[in-house]
Amino acid sequence: MTRMDGYANVSFWLEDAGDDLTSRPALQRSAEVDVAILGGGYTGLWTAYYLLRSNPRLRVAVVEREIAGYGASGRNGGWCSPRFPLSAGAMTRRWGADAARAVILALQDSVNEIQRVTEREAIDAKFRASGTLTVARGAHQLPVLQSMLAAYERIGLGDHYQLLSAEEVAQRVRVTDVYGGLYTPDGASLHPGRLIRGLAHTVERLGCTIYEQTRVTEFRPGALITEAGELRATTAIVLAGEAYLTRLSKLHRALLPVYSLICLTEPLSAEQWSGIGWERGENLASTRNTVVYLTRTPDGRILFGSRGAPYSFGSRIADAQDRHAPTLAMIQASLREWFPSLAGVKFTHAWGGPVGMPIDWTPAVRFDAKTRIGFAGGYTGQGLSTSNLAGRILAEQITGTPAELSSLPFVQRRSPNWIPEPLRWLVVRYMQNALERIDLAQEAGRARPLDAWFAERLGRH
Ligand SMILES: Cc1cc2nc3c(=O)[nH]c(=O)nc-3n(C[C@H](O)[C@H](O)[C@H](O)COP(=O)(O)OP(=O)(O)OC[C@H]3O[C@@H](n4cnc5c(N)ncnc54)[C@H](O)[C@@H]3O)c2cc1C
Repeated sequence: MTRMDGYANVSFWLEDAGDDLTSRPALQRSAEVDVAILGGGYTGLWTAYYLLRSNPRLRVAVVEREIAGYGASGRNGGWCSPRFPLSAGAMTRRWGADAARAVILALQDSVNEIQRVTEREAIDAKFRASGTLTVARGAHQLPVLQSMLAAYERIGLGDHYQLLSAEEVAQRVRVTDVYGGLYTPDGASLHPGRLIRGLAHTVERLGCTIYEQTRVTEFRPGALITEAGELRATTAIVLAGEAYLTRLSKLHRALLPVYSLICLTEPLSAEQWSGIGWERGENLASTRNTVVYLTRTPDGRILFGSRGAPYSFGSRIADAQDRHAPTLAMIQASLREWFPSLAGVKFTHAWGGPVGMPIDWTPAVRFDAKTRIGFAGGYTGQGLSTSNLAGRILAEQITGTPAELSSLPFVQRRSPNWIPEPLRWLVVRYMQNALERIDLAQEAGRARPLDAWFAERLGRH
């Protein structure tokens, strides 16, 4: 389905991108380029950007089913942070301390790189070096903060993080039921819509062609196949469709489309802001199993995001799930719990979208030198900085100049496929339900559910 009725409805960020959202021309007939990229999100456009920066003569084209920024890149929470889907502790267990440290430092460097590029290319992405604050809401969340800090200390990054008392958190932001916080100056927030639309204009200026309203139905080495013809590639094809790649039969089980939903308030008054504080606009979260993330937007609203729209049988992706009513009601209630002084606040926008989750929660960037097919994705909701890193790595690999970044542990790897249905639906829905039950029991001061240990082991990576 296309959104010819108006892409501004997809998210506040696209509505507020300050750009004409009219579709670019579609591919009309078969054509040939050097590099053909599926997907006009950050991964596809960063890859195009770095390819053209390294060789301006390359013929690069992007094929996008809707418009640039239609996917998660035009819908996300705006956290541009060095967070990775695997925690520092999980990465250390799996890859060792040096590799875990290298991943986090490379992601922080990507945050800085995004700032550098937006300045150099005059993309008004409203980049704000806001830092990140994770709060413990309830005494039960405090040990989680302590173990997060211990994991950073073990990989030599403890000096980037500071444990805060409840009073110190309140000096930054006044949230109910806070027992402490973990603050880092690392990470930034930005305007996702302005970044993706600005990036699209930038790559076009560098010579890239973006075909919109063009669906890739199949791929093979050397070609993306669309309804209008083949886009043949002499050098490489790149699959950068993230969660939506599951619609292609060859990749149906590579990722799981998991929904993340957002509610946005009206701009708050000066009086409302003075009750809350949050002057520095840190990226804000708690340690809940069912993730919550909050952003102070450049125009003074609160964006409150969460997982929670249930997994749909057969990995179905449908516009209706972007606004799953029970989840949106839960998000609005949560915001009022965090900030009771906003009991009467109006919500002006709600939207969501699918993120791509591999079965082991581990993103991958790979390029097969034989088939000349590149892939990057599986960011599990942490793709803003990771996709920039992925674009740089893919460009290096495609141009045959792999450097230091290519030794990061998620490069040239492949996660196992998800299990077939109906088992997939049963396991995923059980996990979503169990994690929510654990959160609710802990928040109510009740004993953890009997299956908490089992669910946490199943979900541990
Ligand atoms: C609600 C929400 C909140 C999020 N919050 C954050 C956050 O705060 N911080 C963070 O780091 N990450 C966040 N994420 C994740 C982040 O947005 C993504 O990881 C990132 O945008 C992925 O970029 P991408 O280019 O790989 O994929 P996408 O942006 O999804 O782009 C893929 C594109 O490919 C196109 N496509 C797919 N299949 C085809 C096909 N067959 N033919 C043609 N075109 C096709 C799609 O239309 C789409 O435009 C969030 C995601 C969501 C949904």
